[in-house]
Amino acid sequence: MKESIVLLGSTGSIGVNTLAVAKHYNIEVEALVAGNNIDLLNEQIAAFSPKTVAIAREKDKARVNHSDVRVGTEGILSIIEESQSPTIVNALVGYAGLAPTLKATRLGKKVALANKESLVVAGEFIDMSLITPIDSEHFGLWYLLNNRPFRKLYITASGGAFREWEIEEMKTATFADALKHPNWSMGDKITVDSATMTNKLFELLEAKWLFGTADVDALIEKKSIVHALVEFVDGSTTAHFAGVDMKLPIAFALKGEVTEPILSPVDLLGIGELSFAPIEEHRYPIWSIKSHLLAHPHLGVVLNAANEVAIEAFKKGQCGFFGMSKIVLDAYRHFEDVVPSSIEDIITIDKEVRTYAMKR
Ligand code: NDP
Repeated sequence: MKESIVLLGSTGSIGVNTLAVAKHYNIEVEALVAGNNIDLLNEQIAAFSPKTVAIAREKDKARVNHSDVRVGTEGILSIIEESQSPTIVNALVGYAGLAPTLKATRLGKKVALANKESLVVAGEFIDMSLITPIDSEHFGLWYLLNNRPFRKLYITASGGAFREWEIEEMKTATFADALKHPNWSMGDKITVDSATMTNKLFELLEAKWLFGTADVDALIEKKSIVHALVEFVDGSTTAHFAGVDMKLPIAFALKGEVTEPILSPVDLLGIGELSFAPIEEHRYPIWSIKSHLLAHPHLGVVLNAANEVAIEAFKKGQCGFFGMSKIVLDAYRHFEDVVPSSIEDIITIDKEVRTYAMKR
């Protein structure tokens, strides 16, 4: 039987790379889900002939060149429910990705998960045996681990758009400035999350749920060549080197094993110097909650909701760059005693945090 996937977020950075990998392996694309970029979606429909599609807004429906167009969250969930594909690739951005992850796992489908917010918000309530992450750091960790006893996991951070800026300059930085990532070309939200280091907090939580350990930390490696390191019990540390390209983690998530070249090998002599540096709280104030968050991973729902509100405020010019961390840290402290015991609780807490953070 031909392999097939449902792809959520097909018009985004991960979505486009996933289609390139699907084409390379001749994997059928049963359904495509996009948001507002209908022109690109129409090109993808022509190239991949999905059986169904879904989009974000009713008003765009007539522009989509397909006879079965669903709309909104209900549309996405109905596509997952009716799909024959064993694997759902979730490359939606933000909290909107949670409901599809839950739906897919409840149906026993595998989820190739780029939408890390699903794990940040509700990792405790997701069947991890069905999840394969599409994230370079976690792919790197998985690649290194090989079932050997380890002491500590490390992931790396590039430092984001402002890593070379003076603190005074950062105070007046704009949303457009925050989108200039030094190494990766990614969607807007994750690029801003990289500038604040929230993305790395998310990834620590992601590692916690995926690998079942809170012994995980992050370091700055500015070239984004080393993605992950594992410190083993025997005292050795190994590092995962790979080019800056998401096709490798995507190929592994779709195929399980890859035996042919996906990326060019790393040019070791071309790299020059490699260095590791700590993540400093005065540049990345959000880092101050790292230890507390890892000890209380269920607070990811608070972190995520406040962060989505903060990014919107920064985008609209309602707060400065450091104003985002202030909004998030304030909400985090206000809600630090909440303990969700179900998905319903998660949904309620998410709403309460958003309402609180919006009033700040
Ligand atoms: P993008 O912003 O580039 O893409 C997001 C995708 O989701 C787009 O296809 C967008 O549609 C779609 N979308 C957004 N809202 C809706 C909605 N309400 N209904 C339907 N579709 C919607 O993000 P990325 O690809 O960069 O990131 C996706 C996820 O992957 C994030 O969780 C991110 O953290 C994670 N990730 C990304 C990496 C990267 O290299 N980019 C690396 C590792 C993880 P449209 O554009 O048509 O509006």
